[in-house]
Amino acid sequence: MQVYLDNAATTKMSRAAIEAMLPYFDGTYGNPSSLHSAGQRAKEALESARASVARCLGAQPSEIYFTSGGSEADNQAILTAAALGEKKGKKHVVTTAFEHHAVLHTLKKLESRGFEVTYLPVGSLGNVTPEAVADAIREDTCLVTVMTANNEIGSILPIAEIGAVCRERKVLFHTDAVQAVGHIPMNVTEMRIDMLSLSAHKFHGPKGVGVLFARKGILPISLIEGGAQERGRRAGTENVAGVAGLAAALKEATEGLPVNMPRLTALRDRLIAGLSSIPHSALNGDPVRRLPGNVSFCFEGIEGESLLLLLDEYGVEGSSGSACTSGSLDPSHVLLAIGRPHEIAHGSLRLTLSDETTEQEIDYTVDVVRSVVERLRAMSPVWRDKLEGKRPYLL
Ligand SMILES: *Cc1c(COP(=O)(O)O)cnc(C)c1O
Repeated sequence: MQVYLDNAATTKMSRAAIEAMLPYFDGTYGNPSSLHSAGQRAKEALESARASVARCLGAQPSEIYFTSGGSEADNQAILTAAALGEKKGKKHVVTTAFEHHAVLHTLKKLESRGFEVTYLPVGSLGNVTPEAVADAIREDTCLVTVMTANNEIGSILPIAEIGAVCRERKVLFHTDAVQAVGHIPMNVTEMRIDMLSLSAHKFHGPKGVGVLFARKGILPISLIEGGAQERGRRAGTENVAGVAGLAAALKEATEGLPVNMPRLTALRDRLIAGLSSIPHSALNGDPVRRLPGNVSFCFEGIEGESLLLLLDEYGVEGSSGSACTSGSLDPSHVLLAIGRPHEIAHGSLRLTLSDETTEQEIDYTVDVVRSVVERLRAMSPVWRDKLEGKRPYLL
């Protein structure tokens, strides 16, 4: 059986998204900046996608800027707030310890430019309270950036409440909603979000295209200089097909939420229950305030990479954390942030579901993980020490 459970890394494109893209590869291939009809047809496609995306988010079309993905949108949002802050002498940013690297690395860059960043601790369940955000805001705070849902451990943060705090204190609020959009209801107006990042390939759209939402009155700085595309905020000929695919995928995902959320949540909880029966294992993240499709576990006495390779031999495709950190031997900053010791953080497994995941796949996965964990432990000298009482169990 082949079971793809790495949907937080990327998803299979939906039929609707593929169909929406096809016309812009051959028939309607014009450049939206061209004045002839072929160009204007492409321009219309771009603008109708913008309107559709805006409707899905509770935004205005003029507040939607297309980017090359979530990372670019995160960079642009943060650098925009920094530029606005700098003008007023405000050089302090509030964030959390477990943001995506697209956020953390951009903030590191700001620190080297003299900005100060407060990294709020996220506790053992991976969360921050609106009160903690309120307490961290200072006179010189120019931005609060807190992700809507964590990409590794799936916790969902109280974004509407944090948005209310920021609006009251008149501080710009950005959220990296890449894991949330298309997976849980999102409305930028109700949640008082000033800037939001999303990425199409996380909700069955194409890779390499995303959105920065920036509320009216906030003019994003351009990271790429050139032509006047995206109202002068993002130069370069638009990815018309990609944008059409993004809009179609977002509409489909948003409309499917009432059916897919409860279905996925039930499958997720079945997987969590199955994996919890493995001795010396623990769920990472909040069991309740959690993305419908996210399961993240630590297994004591296991090395995550070996686990992944063996699972792959049985057709189960998962991840040890985030795709962006795999390839480095450091344990994930997210697992360290929720207080997992290094040794435990190395034995992590993230399995992320999609609308196509079935109960049979879940049950097969539980069986495979259980037997692979047993096999790896049987080969491990560290595990033998634990069995013999020479080392303590941590989980
Ligand atoms: C995937 C992801 C990103 C990066 O999006 P890309 O479109 O791949 O650049 C940023 N933030 C989070 C939380 C993500 O999961």
